[in-house]
Amino acid sequence: MNRFLADLCGMKLSNTLTQINGDGDDGWGLFNEARRRMAAGAPIQELTIGEHDIRTHQSILDAMHISASNGHTGYAEIPGIQPLREAVARRMEDRTGVRTTPDNVLITPGGQSALFAAHRAALDSGDTGLYLDPHYTTYPGTIRAIGAIAKPIFCHSINEFQPQATDIRAASNGARSLLINSPNNPTGVVYTEDTINGIADAVRDADLWLISDEVYDTQIWEGSHISPRALPGMVDRTLVVGSMSKSHAMTGSRVGWIVGPEIVIEHLINLSTNTTYGVPGYIQDAALFALDQGSALEQEVAAPFERRRRTAKTLIKRQNTVALVPSGGAMYLMLDIRQTGLSGIAFAQSLLDVEEIAVMPGESFGSSAAGHVRVAMTLEDKAFEQALTRVLAHAGRLSG
Ligand code: PMP
Repeated sequence: MNRFLADLCGMKLSNTLTQINGDGDDGWGLFNEARRRMAAGAPIQELTIGEHDIRTHQSILDAMHISASNGHTGYAEIPGIQPLREAVARRMEDRTGVRTTPDNVLITPGGQSALFAAHRAALDSGDTGLYLDPHYTTYPGTIRAIGAIAKPIFCHSINEFQPQATDIRAASNGARSLLINSPNNPTGVVYTEDTINGIADAVRDADLWLISDEVYDTQIWEGSHISPRALPGMVDRTLVVGSMSKSHAMTGSRVGWIVGPEIVIEHLINLSTNTTYGVPGYIQDAALFALDQGSALEQEVAAPFERRRRTAKTLIKRQNTVALVPSGGAMYLMLDIRQTGLSGIAFAQSLLDVEEIAVMPGESFGSSAAGHVRVAMTLEDKAFEQALTRVLAHAGRLSG
């Protein structure tokens, strides 16, 4: 809502609230349009948001139901129930080799809430928080929601969207935090060891907090996931954001976490007490059950995306209008459609109009992704293959 509409309600709203989306739009215009057409009965194929085509595994729902039926429906412990904090700490220690205890873990209502809390920990109002463009849509808004200044650092397609340490160094004067995301939404890029070392060096030299969004850490198809928490000198300045949403198809359950230094978690418990008041106990019990199933369940949830990515690579190789941004993870494909001569927005609009297929314009994720579209691999295999075939054919026709 813009300030004009806000003023219409008679009372003045805070600038912090009305400026969350900055001066631009929130990037969801095409998605909302597709949803409107679907509600009106149009047979739109949606390749837009990061929502699995499968639902939460029945065994997790059973655990949730049993927990609720057994009475875990009152206020839960605000930092998170101890066994879940322990399970997250073990998971993090296994991945990084860095000693991690339950006191390093805060359970939050999803990764989004963890992103907000992490920035609240790092920044005061008026401070500058850095983020990388292209970016997950909420990043600048999350930084602005706490009254800080969101400053983009642009990643470039010539560098295969790997962030460059020189760009971080150049932008870091006066900033207090940097937000990174690997595997990346929207590009699917997995940061290389060189990239992550370069980021860590730049962050240490500029004395920044590093907020590392690792919600796609179970979706690695090529390369390997390196958490910066594992790197020398980083444990005291890194806040890792995690979530059950993507790893366990639990997007609607709203459960995630922050892993960071004990002192940060202690203060963030005060933030939770005064904002969310924690996460429902039966949701936490379900998350604990899910984590206890180990990597087998995570792989089961991730497998369809790996399969579809293989199919996509084969289809993309057969034509020469659309190029796939080299990527190693996550449930998305970033397609370079610049050969069609259209912007990502115009291409996505014409695809919606002509083929009734919805994809996200690259521009929704920042100016670095202009001329690209993001395809979520979130249709069942056959439907995905057919839809992507039509996306590529549409691009081919446009390029003449
Ligand atoms: N980070 C990234 C990169 C995401 O793509 C998302 C959701 N799409 C989130 C964080 C937030 O996820 P959730 O709040 O569901 O955990």
